[in-house]
Amino acid sequence: MVELKHVSVTYESTGVEALSDVNLTVEDGEFAFVIGRSGAGKSTLIKLLLKEIDANSGEVRVNGYNLTKMKKRKVPEFRRTIGVVFQDYRLIDTMTVYENIAFVLRVIDAPMKLIRKRVPYVISLVGLEGKADSYPSELSGGEQQRCALARALVNDPELLIADEPTGNVDPELAYELVELLQGINVCGTTILMVTHAHEMVRHFGGRIINISQGEVVFDEVIGGTDVEVE
Ligand code: ADP
Repeated sequence: MVELKHVSVTYESTGVEALSDVNLTVEDGEFAFVIGRSGAGKSTLIKLLLKEIDANSGEVRVNGYNLTKMKKRKVPEFRRTIGVVFQDYRLIDTMTVYENIAFVLRVIDAPMKLIRKRVPYVISLVGLEGKADSYPSELSGGEQQRCALARALVNDPELLIADEPTGNVDPELAYELVELLQGINVCGTTILMVTHAHEMVRHFGGRIINISQGEVVFDEVIGGTDVEVE
């Protein structure tokens, strides 16, 4: 669950108020699109939710943790409750698909038995069977994106944040990715997906959070258009 109460963030270097008195609640199990123009404050929101930056005022709660009061030593434990798919995937070139995903569990000293079970499971969940031994350079853009998604899911996060995951792939693959995310959401993972693809958001419908100049200017559930995509 995500809860922001009167949250403001100002970057000291520029004096820009990137988020201004934001109030936002995303309940467990929800799927929400976050939209808004470049510079609106979307990345700032993500950084805030990951506790990469702190709010200047207000209260931020994520997955039962109060980020405003959190001690530094608690941050790694907290971050493990979140999976992130970055826009540029951030896969490690010298590792195979399997290793890229297993790495997440290895760094937290997960038991080998769990790794052997969980990694193939998420690989099949994203439809990358047969690619486990491939390196990122041997994958298509869509496959790299799925690998990044599998890596974000391997630790069974409560919240999945996808930052423009469809930014670098064909529209058709973008739609497939959202369908995949919807399937994951149905299984209980809360999903926040940041996107510029307004057409796609209209197609799927659901909860749309529109940020403009650091403020939430629209936050409603809309019906999808259900139009078949060519
Ligand atoms: P978006 O992700 O929607 O494009 P951002 O959250 O990156 O928007 O940016 C919101 C505002 O904060 C913009 O005006 C941007 O220039 C400013 N900003 C973002 N990051 C920094 C930073 N590290 N230092 C100073 N200003 C920043």
